[in-house]
Amino acid sequence: MNNKINIFKNRSKLTKSTYQKTKKILHRYGYKITPYYEDDAALNLVLGGDGAFINAVHQSKFSQIPFVGINTGHLGFYQEIEPDNIEDFVRDFSNGNYHMEILSVLETKFKNKTFDSINELVIKSNKSQMIRLKVFIDGIFIESFAGDGLIISTPHGSTAYSLSAGGAILHQSLNGFELTPISPVYSNLNNTLRAPIVLPQDATIEISVSKRDFDHTVLIFDGRQEISGDFRIKTTLSKKKINKVILDKNQYWSNIKDKLM
Ligand code: NAD
Repeated sequence: MNNKINIFKNRSKLTKSTYQKTKKILHRYGYKITPYYEDDAALNLVLGGDGAFINAVHQSKFSQIPFVGINTGHLGFYQEIEPDNIEDFVRDFSNGNYHMEILSVLETKFKNKTFDSINELVIKSNKSQMIRLKVFIDGIFIESFAGDGLIISTPHGSTAYSLSAGGAILHQSLNGFELTPISPVYSNLNNTLRAPIVLPQDATIEISVSKRDFDHTVLIFDGRQEISGDFRIKTTLSKKKINKVILDKNQYWSNIKDKLM
């Protein structure tokens, strides 16, 4: 196996000390840390919290090299390894003693460009204003939405913004995605479906923004990349996947219990 490891890290104090410790352990096990991202490395190792993990996925342009995270952040929903367990992880990884979790990616097409996200796509106003959207699923007109906005999330992104907006938690092994309304308006002037919808893997969501809301509506991918403008978007599950190394197959439920409640 290739002995190169790409490291991604945030700038926290704990990350700095954890990085020194990780480097020593990796060298002891014969691994080489690459100064820049290399596309033939064996692993993308992320030190930080969820933000660092999401940054690493975006910076590496949704790399197909497996990711794993050491949690030096707060919640660390994506970050399985605690700083005290680094040596155990490196030993298990070297011995092939791990599982691979496959994370879905959302693909959104807008004006001939494609934007990927691992948590979600949010469509909302950049002012404190209501937006009006037309929503089509698989080409069929479903609703005239009015409210703060909509979230389209992956199963593992469902525990982030979507959950705060009243969405369901989708188990990571489910092959589908979710459409969650943010503060939908209760009025008979709109035909707004106020419940979250769970869609199958091959579904397509198309959303168009009403003309009066063009100037203040934005699309936000994983809380990072933000675009605006007069738009009509099309979102599906991408063929791309993110591979994540996990040591404990039941980690999902412990994560829900320990980190979300
Ligand atoms: P951030 O620093 O604003 O933190 C957002 C929080 O969401 C952090 O506590 C993070 O640990 C947590 N988080 C991120 N992904 C998660 C996931 N898949 N499951 C459970 N919790 C998760 O921003 P960040 O750390 O860069 O994360 C970006 C994410 O923040 C966005 O993708 C979006 O989902 C989330 N967000 C949430 C809200 C909300 O809940 N009201 C609002 C805006 C953004």
